[in-house]
Amino acid sequence: MNKRNGIVWFRQDLRLHDNEALFDAIGSAQRILPVYVFDERVFLGNTRFGFPKTGNFRAKFILESVIDLRNNLRSIGSDLIVRIGKPEEEIFKLARQAKTSWVFCNRERTREEVEVQDALERRLWSIGQEVRFSRGKMLYYTADLPFPVTHTPDSFSQFRKEVERYVSIRKPLPTPSRLPALPEDIDVGEIPTLQDLGMAEPGTDQRSVLNFKGGETAALERLKYYLWDSGLIRTYKESRNGLIGGDYSSKFSPWLSQGCLSPKKIYYEIKAYEQEFGSNKSTYWLIFELMWRDYFRFIGKKYGDRIFLKSGTKGEPVEDLKDDYRLLELWIEGRTGVPFIDANMRELKHTGFMSNRGRQNVASFLVKDLMVNWQMGAEYFESLLIDYDPCSNWGNWNYIAGVGCDPREDRYFNIISQAKRYDPKGEYVRLWIPELDSFPGHCIHQPDLMTVEEQQALEFTLGADYPKPMINTRRWVD
Ligand SMILES: Cc1cc2nc3c(=O)[nH]c(=O)nc-3n(C[C@H](O)[C@H](O)[C@H](O)COP(=O)(O)OP(=O)(O)OC[C@H]3O[C@@H](n4cnc5c(N)ncnc54)[C@H](O)[C@@H]3O)c2cc1C
Repeated sequence: MNKRNGIVWFRQDLRLHDNEALFDAIGSAQRILPVYVFDERVFLGNTRFGFPKTGNFRAKFILESVIDLRNNLRSIGSDLIVRIGKPEEEIFKLARQAKTSWVFCNRERTREEVEVQDALERRLWSIGQEVRFSRGKMLYYTADLPFPVTHTPDSFSQFRKEVERYVSIRKPLPTPSRLPALPEDIDVGEIPTLQDLGMAEPGTDQRSVLNFKGGETAALERLKYYLWDSGLIRTYKESRNGLIGGDYSSKFSPWLSQGCLSPKKIYYEIKAYEQEFGSNKSTYWLIFELMWRDYFRFIGKKYGDRIFLKSGTKGEPVEDLKDDYRLLELWIEGRTGVPFIDANMRELKHTGFMSNRGRQNVASFLVKDLMVNWQMGAEYFESLLIDYDPCSNWGNWNYIAGVGCDPREDRYFNIISQAKRYDPKGEYVRLWIPELDSFPGHCIHQPDLMTVEEQQALEFTLGADYPKPMINTRRWVD
């Protein structure tokens, strides 16, 4: 009997542990062809407002993840076939050449990704082959939800209560220890460099929260570090709103977004940690945050393309927000004259990362203070973020712009109180805005409140050495 071949198409699931597509393939096919396609539209294209679709921080992280995946596959007897082009064409060609029976992949839920998987499915049909979809991204399976996914509650609290009460999280699937070798006539292909993808190497910045390295190996090391080696998980709830350094939060997000780390794996590792050292509010809270991640994905499924529309999942018009490139540019460059905003925006530009606290503030400032179309901000984040994930990014922007499923009407961040609360000594601002380095604590967040004499004493001129604020900051003063 002929051996049946199956392709495993790796997408945002760049790992061997708890990989359902790979697991399903092992159960059905005798020979497995793992493949990754660098989609030219994702790596070379632009967003609607003209940003590169994938900035170089994320591109580098993905390249590293693909290299690591190839190494890990080689260590168990297989390899990773790499192509550059359109997945629906490249995988189709491979399926024809290798006379496979199926393509196994983890199903994506957002428009561009769905279009690709649908196009591949149509082509494969023409040669009598099929795509077998699995689930690879979440804590909760859609099939296990106590409601149809299209009835996901619009309130996160309601969602959380229901899943916590009725659903148990499935165990991670085993990591394969051996895979059959690839057929000899298959060209495995070279992994491109950043230059091949038309991108420059991103600079390294010592101020970066972490030296992120892509791949499952680094992801599992980070998990081990955050739980077992450092015990940082024990204080997560208290430290998670920090701004500086690697330890204030888990930093799992880049690995989660490329699927180098499975959320179920994190969950069961936390459970094992709790068994040994006991549970507390913090060990629970990390799981709580992972539920937010699931929630935005279910909302993405429920509302489809609406998460990308200006009127959001709510569907209410927001005509007062303008496509103002001039204001957007000042925000991007960290030249708004509001130090807490500028520090965060400069961190993003120089490192591809920003804390959750920072993201909430800069998003609110763009939309609620500058009255700029929130989609422009979301696209800039899409381009820059090393951990970009369509549902988490667009879902959070919907939320902050007031067009999502936030039960609180008119959520608004008072930037000065936020800055004083989360950066009380101005250390974060000084780290990213060297122009303000010599500033005393009482005016680090509001240089515009300084008198001319105070400025002279510091040999500083507001408007020349650092911009005057773009908006009247008195609105934030109690
Ligand atoms: C405007 C805006 C845009 C965002 N865009 C993204 C994005 O593109 N990709 C992304 O992964 N996160 C996004 N977030 C959520 C959050 O800021 C990041 O997940 C978090 O800062 C990553 O750092 P961490 O891994 O140390 O998080 P931790 O605090 O350690 O949390 C653990 C994990 O929980 C999940 N999580 C935590 N908070 C959220 C949240 N609010 N929404 C969804 N998941 C969450 C993440 O997977 C995170 O890795 C965005 C938030 C805002 C306000």
